[in-house]
Amino acid sequence: MKRLIFATGNQNKMREIREILADLPVEILSMKQAGIEADIVEDGKTFEENAIIKAKTIMELTGELVLADDSGLEIDYLNKEPGIYSARYMGEDTSYRVKNINLIERLTGVPDEKRTARFVCAIAAAFPDGTIKTTEGVIEGRIGYEERGENGFGYDPIFYVPEFGCTTAELSEEQKNAVSHRGKALEKMREILKESVNAE
Ligand code: IMP
Repeated sequence: MKRLIFATGNQNKMREIREILADLPVEILSMKQAGIEADIVEDGKTFEENAIIKAKTIMELTGELVLADDSGLEIDYLNKEPGIYSARYMGEDTSYRVKNINLIERLTGVPDEKRTARFVCAIAAAFPDGTIKTTEGVIEGRIGYEERGENGFGYDPIFYVPEFGCTTAELSEEQKNAVSHRGKALEKMREILKESVNAE
């Protein structure tokens, strides 16, 4: 069976990718399962560039098909901050409670229609022959006025989705995966991988 490595240390992401790619004849390995430890400098200027850097680096180390993702939150009123710095915003070790409260404070007095934001996810596939393919997924929402919900992670408690009437931290994991930036980007990548598996 064909193998692919998903370049993440995040167990939630591993579970999600395994679910979405379940019907493809590929064995999906985590970095740990593939025996790789790499400290990759993500110095790209976009989500896509960072995803490519990660996928390409691990592909060159292993010679295997590698997928990597990069994601974050863009807030329009803050010139798309925290953007590609979402994980590093206010420091990697700062709790998301503190980060979320800080972002809400920075939007004090900003009305609903100017609180627009989106989660973006780019996924890159680096094939052993050097080919690179990328996909992107987006979910649009607004920054709320307080943290709401216990599910999800990161900025989910302040990311309000008007069409659901709740934050992404109030959605179940299944509901979120069906509409999330990462879910959409993975679905698109699934189509690309399907073609490449069928072409062999
Ligand atoms: P990375 O893609 O693992 O580098 O993470 C990017 C950062 O963006 C995460 O640490 C979170 O802060 C934020 N982020 C990305 N996706 C989500 C999401 O679905 N919910 C909440 N925060 C997210």
